[in-house]
Amino acid sequence: MYALERAPAAMRKDVLIIGAGAAGMMCAAAAGKRNRSVLILDHGERTGSKIRVSGGGRCNFTNTSMHPDNYLSGNPHFCKSALARFGPHDFICMVERHGIPYYEKEPGQLFCRKGSGEIIEMLHRECSRAGAEILLRCRIEEIRKDGRFSLTTSQGTFESESLVIATGGLSYPKLGATDFGHRVARQFGIKVTGVSPALVPFTFGPEALKVFHELSGISLDAVVSCKGRHFRGPVLFTHRGLSGPAVLQISSYWEEGDALSINLLPDMDIFAWLMEKRKGKIEIQNLLSGCLPKRFIRKWSAAQIPQSAARPVNQCTEKELKQIADNIHAWIIGPQGTEGYKTAEVTRGGVDTDELSSKTMEAKKVPGLYFIGEVVDVTGQLGGYNLHWAWASGHAAGRYV
Ligand SMILES: Cc1cc2nc3c(=O)[nH]c(=O)nc-3n(C[C@H](O)[C@H](O)[C@H](O)COP(=O)(O)OP(=O)(O)OC[C@H]3O[C@@H](n4cnc5c(N)ncnc54)[C@H](O)[C@@H]3O)c2cc1C
Repeated sequence: MYALERAPAAMRKDVLIIGAGAAGMMCAAAAGKRNRSVLILDHGERTGSKIRVSGGGRCNFTNTSMHPDNYLSGNPHFCKSALARFGPHDFICMVERHGIPYYEKEPGQLFCRKGSGEIIEMLHRECSRAGAEILLRCRIEEIRKDGRFSLTTSQGTFESESLVIATGGLSYPKLGATDFGHRVARQFGIKVTGVSPALVPFTFGPEALKVFHELSGISLDAVVSCKGRHFRGPVLFTHRGLSGPAVLQISSYWEEGDALSINLLPDMDIFAWLMEKRKGKIEIQNLLSGCLPKRFIRKWSAAQIPQSAARPVNQCTEKELKQIADNIHAWIIGPQGTEGYKTAEVTRGGVDTDELSSKTMEAKKVPGLYFIGEVVDVTGQLGGYNLHWAWASGHAAGRYV
């Protein structure tokens, strides 16, 4: 692997970057190309741990359909400048220059054909060619600024003109995630927004779990809504609650106490369909199991429409059929919580964007200090948007550090 085994001889650099993840390596390569001397410090054993696990090991590295609306942030305009200067096409060009085969899995979502290791190798090559160095197993003990930045670490003291914080968010602590970046921000009087796990499965409370835990493994194509946001895709029952792409997407907008509305049959007018079937004698739950998995509809009907579940359809009034249809098109369920940072793909919130220049990622109050990637209050939707933010913000800072 491309990394220094020992601290480099020169402990003075133009640029020190903390965090050898997606944003840190991208920034290092961009800065190195400008002939800045660059050293990345990381406390981990290896670089790009999250890139390695991303996209189920195939790294959904960008999305060809990129819009600021794909990001959550205290300032929805903040991401525009970096994305405009380093878009999906720029990253795809880099991937192609390195001969990495890729494919489009879902519309717009690009994945590596062989594995995410190829993206990490590509970033190593980009850093190496630009003369940027990486030092692993390096614990940062103290940061001081007295004109230059001075870092006391387990591998010696380093000084630099510019300091870039690229330590990511809080999700997946087992991969080395820490709140280091948020603490550095606070040390320098820079605001950090509230943070919470995002792109994360929901957990049910004991009541709902009693009903639905047996459905673990069942997946439905549904539309999940919360606070005016809607996502369509697979909704998966787990032994703890709900997961699947549509659920992960909505989790980023969900706050404690919010209910979800799930349209279980988005392509059907189920009321019209029930009215058509009204002459028959089939029980409602048997009728519905023609449209939805039988195991699911048994449990769901018993919990949601207990009076009508076992009634023949010809004995139901129009009003009752309307109620059943309304329940199917808007099943209201309130999750108890989420599975938390342990399984969340990202962290919502972070270093307040009001504190940073959207062009350079430099802190307005602290010249020379930069924040990039997931540590910043910019959170992407599922589909390659978070890695793309890491590339774009890293590239933006790399041009100015
Ligand atoms: C399971 C999983 C799958 C994902 N899949 C995708 C996907 O397919 N597409 C997508 O766009 N996004 C995906 N993401 C999100 C994406 O991986 C992250 O948003 C992205 O890696 C963030 O980049 P970053 O450089 O800001 O932080 P990271 O990549 O997390 O890098 C931070 C680096 O900082 C280091 N660090 C942390 N604390 C310290 C410290 N105190 N001292 C020194 N070093 C420190 C860490 O060791 C790490 O190397 C996924 C995330 C997870 C967890």
